[in-house]
Amino acid sequence: MIEKNLIDTHSHLDDEKFSGEVAEVIARAKEAGVSRIITIACWDKEKGFTPTMALVEEFPELFFALGIHPHDAKDVEGSDVYDDIRELAANHKDRLVAIGEAGLDYHYDNSPREIQQEVFIKQINLAKELKLPLIVHTREAEAETLEILKKEGIPEAGGVIHCFSGSVEMARTALDMGLYLSFTGVITFPKATELRDVLKDVPIERIMVETDAPYLAPVPYRGKRSEPAQVVATAEKIAEVKGLSLEDVARITTQNAESFFKVKDSAAEDSSSSGSASSAAKIAYKIRNSLYLNITNRCTNRCTFCAKFSSYTVKGHYLKLAKEPEFADVLKAVEELGTPPIEYDEIVFCGYGESLIRVELVKKIGMYFKKMGCRIRIDTDGLANLVHGRNVLPELAFADCISVSLNAVDSDTYERLCKTPFGDKAYPAILWFLREAKKHIARVQATVVSVPGLDVEACRKIAEEDIGVAFRVREYNNVG
Ligand code: SF4
Ligand SMILES: [Zn+2]
Ligand SMILES: [Zn+2]
Repeated sequence: MIEKNLIDTHSHLDDEKFSGEVAEVIARAKEAGVSRIITIACWDKEKGFTPTMALVEEFPELFFALGIHPHDAKDVEGSDVYDDIRELAANHKDRLVAIGEAGLDYHYDNSPREIQQEVFIKQINLAKELKLPLIVHTREAEAETLEILKKEGIPEAGGVIHCFSGSVEMARTALDMGLYLSFTGVITFPKATELRDVLKDVPIERIMVETDAPYLAPVPYRGKRSEPAQVVATAEKIAEVKGLSLEDVARITTQNAESFFKVKDSAAEDSSSSGSASSAAKIAYKIRNSLYLNITNRCTNRCTFCAKFSSYTVKGHYLKLAKEPEFADVLKAVEELGTPPIEYDEIVFCGYGESLIRVELVKKIGMYFKKMGCRIRIDTDGLANLVHGRNVLPELAFADCISVSLNAVDSDTYERLCKTPFGDKAYPAILWFLREAKKHIARVQATVVSVPGLDVEACRKIAEEDIGVAFRVREYNNVG
């Protein structure tokens, strides 16, 4: 079984459909690899938050959020709900992880819209006051919801739109505002093609997973009561749509949820060193079934689009090296991952940094693994010849593939985007590097990052027609 550690970030275990069965539901979740569950308490004018608080009392492993669903906004006036939330927050600092769900629901319109808006705004401010993140519910009111959030300002601790089901444009607006998006089993429904397109577009670093149990059971449980264990099916679908492994999706979404909700992992000690979220930089790490080697953080350029300037984490792996590793450190890091090198699809020199700055180490490691029969790929900016003052390509003939960042259609654009210290020498040197690479390495590809305004088709033409190498577009915002 694949080792996975998922968090169901949104469920309603206080729902009567779970009555008397919560212990079994939690046990089944753990069994399925869902280590943590956040249960959302929606205030009720008769019961307040009592049903959830009883569960929280009984099951110390649960985390929870408190909020007023837009359906119930009409009942708030005359109640003490905001003070109740403040009091519960003071008493449950370690397990109350957010305010919400709060927002607008114009599908059912169970409460008048103005009242929904007022109660939403009050909860945004309450989240700010309590320094907690906000869980947002929005249905057929996406534009209005984002407008209010823009006007009021998202709490410093962050915001997530749960059960996201809006358009690509809406998702991009939300991401630009700094929000996270959380996906439910809806993405597994056969008809949800558009939502899967949205999912494709959203960087996995901003995605969380949830069930919204007891609702929205994913395929193959559709029509049944949903429960936290089923979040695995949603994560599997994300893996399929994004071309990642389930392990990748689990690691990344869990890390997202851990940092967003500040939920501690009580089981962290017994997960393996390679799989657990660790603050020590990874020298060797796995994405899909490829092994990546991170041997330097130094770069020749300072690309404007580089994600390392906002975060040093790629696909859930922290890459900021305290010290550059040597040959033995790399071998040790690979060994610690536990998979025999030959079993990886390929071994890639990548990471946040330009590996060929350390060309001697690349050669030593590359040839070592090549002798074992592994497939080797080098990801590079194509500037190594300028850096080293010689043609290094004949020395890299052990590689099976070299992937060179072209990034521009001309020298000016390149200089502007990549802030290269080599000025107008850089771009022609890359074109030369690509041509020369063909003589020594079986597979050569040029890549571009689809930054807004870049003429991707013109780049493709340069690569495929002028130089005669393969071409690949890497999505802006999608690293790794
Ligand atoms: S070469 Fe790569 S890691 Fe370095 S700044 Fe550019 S995009 Fe970032
Ligand atoms: Zn909701
Ligand atoms: Zn909900």
